[in-house]
Amino acid sequence: MLRYDLHCHSTHSDGLLSPAAVVARAAERGVDVLALTDHDVVSGLPEARDAAKGLGITFVCGSELSVTWKDITIHIVALRIDPDNTTLTDGLASIRGGRAARARLMADGLAAAGIAGAYEGAMRFVTNEDLVSRTHFARFLIEKGYAKDGRDCFERYLTPGKPGHVVHEWATLSQAIGWIHAAGGQAVIAHPGRYRVTALGMRKLLSEFRDSGGDAIEILSPSHSPAQYQEFATHARVLGLRGSCGSDWHGPGEGYMDLGDLPDLPASVVPVWKDW
Ligand code: AMP
Ligand code: MN
Ligand code: MN
Ligand code: MN
Repeated sequence: MLRYDLHCHSTHSDGLLSPAAVVARAAERGVDVLALTDHDVVSGLPEARDAAKGLGITFVCGSELSVTWKDITIHIVALRIDPDNTTLTDGLASIRGGRAARARLMADGLAAAGIAGAYEGAMRFVTNEDLVSRTHFARFLIEKGYAKDGRDCFERYLTPGKPGHVVHEWATLSQAIGWIHAAGGQAVIAHPGRYRVTALGMRKLLSEFRDSGGDAIEILSPSHSPAQYQEFATHARVLGLRGSCGSDWHGPGEGYMDLGDLPDLPASVVPVWKDW
């Protein structure tokens, strides 16, 4: 059985390694099929695709799109996209457009809570000026001792209602899915277990995703417990969606799962790669 890892990040968004280094590490760790899915960009894909040649690893062009659904942020992983499709690249540019102003507002919120210099501090961790994210603020806050790790930091400063959080409008669900399909790709709802919704809200979200043309649910993710693997496998079966898996790896020493550290998809699920 081939080992798939269809969700990870590089320095083109909030990851710590270059696209080529991510691909090399995945190959070393026994990944057979890898998708690089940087937030709201496709700029790292050519480097990753070149690096995959000769390493015995199949590379899949991906991205992870930021979406606002009702009042929450959700992420849609795009797989097997054409990175040159202008419907997609224009859409991604429109999502990225608000990030710089948002970062200023995040720093203002943190300053009001007594944390000075957060904008400059976060920018020292930014590796793509177009893509300032909460992760970069988290690295600054942890470095300065305001939080002990990522989870602690997000809970205290960067989630809704906390000083460094700014309400933001990303793309709509149907826009994101439309752009992905225009680029020939498949749309996967990322780490659904992370969204703060009721059981009813989750059913609404997943059925709206399916009704908008969504293709698959990310079933295996470090954000999910083994019980949630089964829960989302059931959702996929009931809704006629396929299943995906990704480590959502950001770099050495970060996160709970390394590249390729994924169990097999539950047998009841039709994999997103079935027709690849
Ligand atoms: P942004 O796109 O700027 O809203 O940043 C979102 C990123 O923050 C995610 O892709 C994760 O990398 C990171 N993130 C979100 N929640 C957490 C958390 N609880 N712990 C660690 N990192 C998180
Ligand atoms: Mn991230
Ligand atoms: Mn995500
Ligand atoms: Mn991710």
